[in-house]
Amino acid sequence: MSLFYALAYLLAAVLFILGLKQLSSPKTARNGNFTAAAGMVIALGATVPQLHFTAAGALIILIGVVIGAAVGTIGARQVKMTQIPQMVALFNGAGGAAAALVAVAELVKFGAHPPLTEALPSVFSIVIGSVSFAGSLVAFAKLQELMTGTPITYPGQQLVNGLLAAAIFGFVIAVLAIASIPFSFLALMLLALILGVAFVLPIGGADMPVVISLLNAFTGLAVAASGFTLNNFALIVAGTLVGASGSLLTKLMSDAMGRSLGNVLFGAFGKVQAVAGAAAGKEGRTVRTGSVEDLATLLAYSRRVIIVPGYGLAVAQAQHAVRELADLLEKRGVEVNYAIHPVAGRMPGHMNVLLAEANVPYEQLKEMDEINDEFKNADVVLVVGANDVVNPAARNTPGSPIYGMPILNADQAKNIVFMKRSMRPGFAGIDNDLLYDPKTIMLFGDAKDSLTKLVSAVKAA
Ligand code: NDP
Repeated sequence: MSLFYALAYLLAAVLFILGLKQLSSPKTARNGNFTAAAGMVIALGATVPQLHFTAAGALIILIGVVIGAAVGTIGARQVKMTQIPQMVALFNGAGGAAAALVAVAELVKFGAHPPLTEALPSVFSIVIGSVSFAGSLVAFAKLQELMTGTPITYPGQQLVNGLLAAAIFGFVIAVLAIASIPFSFLALMLLALILGVAFVLPIGGADMPVVISLLNAFTGLAVAASGFTLNNFALIVAGTLVGASGSLLTKLMSDAMGRSLGNVLFGAFGKVQAVAGAAAGKEGRTVRTGSVEDLATLLAYSRRVIIVPGYGLAVAQAQHAVRELADLLEKRGVEVNYAIHPVAGRMPGHMNVLLAEANVPYEQLKEMDEINDEFKNADVVLVVGANDVVNPAARNTPGSPIYGMPILNADQAKNIVFMKRSMRPGFAGIDNDLLYDPKTIMLFGDAKDSLTKLVSAVKAA
C-alpha cells in the first residue's frame, strides 16, 4: 500500500474518532455524524482505486451501491423516532451479514488449506457476523411487533444454546485444522445463524436496545476481522471502534438500568415483568388528581420547575408541547430544566434526540448526576410519561427488578406532578410508590393533550 493510501486511511481513522467524540454530546452529535461520514467517504475513496475490478464486477458493485444507498436513505428518512432501535438493528444485521459473506468469499478463494492468518479471521467473521445478522433480525421482529416481545423460553434452553456453541466450535476446528471446504464453512454459517436466533429469543422486547448495542459490537468485531482478511486498515480501525464503542454502550446501559449484562441476556426480564406487574396491586391506597387550572397556577407561580421526560413523552410525541410549556414558564421568570435519565425512553439518548427535535436549548438539559442534588430545591417536578426512572423502589425495595438502578430524585421536590394515562406501570412492570405520595398530583391523559391544555391554562393564569 502506498504512502498516499496509508495517509488517507489515517485521516479517515482520525475523522471516525473525532466523529465518535462529537456524538457524545447532543450539541455536537449532528456534526459528529457528518465528520464520521466524511471519514467513510475518504476510506472508500482510498479503497476503490486499489481494487482491480473487471467491468462486470464494477457494474455489480455499482448496482449494489445504488440499491443500498436508496434503501438506506429512504428508510432513514421515513423511520419514526420511536422506531430508530429497529432501524439500527436492521442496518447492523446487514453489516454482520456482509462481514460473514466477505469471509466466505475469501475462504473460497484460498481453497481447502488457507493459511492460518487468513482462515482464523475468516471463521471469526463468519461466526460473529452470522450471529449478529440473525440476532438483529429477531431483535427487529420483536421491536416491530412482527413477533411477540415477551421472552420465549423453554426448559433446557441454555443447554441447547450451549450445544449449538459447542458444535460451532467443532466446525471452527474442522475448518482450521482439517480442511476449509464449502460444506464446513457453510455449516458453520448455518449453525451461527441458528445460534443468533436462539440467543435473542429469550430476551424481552424492551431489552432489545441493549441487545442491539451488543450485536453492534459483534458486527464491529466481525468487520475488523474482515479487515485482517482483506488487509484493509480502514476496516480494521472502523470495526474496532464499533466493537469498542458498542461494548462500552452495552455496559453503560446495563449499569444505568441497575442490571448486569448477564441479567439482561439471560434473565428473561419480560417474564419477571408480567409476574411483578400482576403482584403489584396497591388496593386501598388513594391517589390525588388535580385539575389543569390548579396545576397551571402551581407551575406559573413556581420559582423552579424540573421536567422529567420519559418513554410516554416519545409515545405521545409531546416534545413540541413540552417545549412550549417550558418557554411560557421561562417567560414568566420560572427557571426550567429537564432532568435526563440515561435510560429514559427505550434507546440511548432517546430524550436528547426528541428534545433536540423540538429545539429545546441544550443548557436546559441536565444529566442525572448534574441535577440530582437540585430536586430538593424544585417547587415542582413535572414527570411527563416517565415512571421507572423516578421509582423509589430502585432505592428502597431489595428484590425489586429495578433495585439498584440509579434514579432521579424526583421524590425530593416540593410538589410532584405525574402526567400519564393510567396507573399502569412502566417498562419494569412494577408499581411506583411515588404515585401515591401525598406530594404527588396526577394529571391523567395522553401527555400531548395534557400539555396542550396546560399551555392554554398557563397563558390564562
Ligand atoms: P417507563 O417505561 O418506566 O414508563 C413510561 C410511562 O409512560 C408509562 O408508565 C406509561 O403510563 C406512560 N405513557 C405511555 N404512553 C403515554 C402517553 N401517550 N401519554 C402519557 N404517558 C404515557 O419509562 P421511563 O422512561 O421512566 O423508563 C424507561 C424504562 O425503559 C426503564 O425501565 C429502562 O431501564 C427501560 N429501558 C430503557 C432503554 C434505553 O436505552 N433508554 C433500553 C431498554 C429498556 P400509562 O400507560 O399509564 O400512560
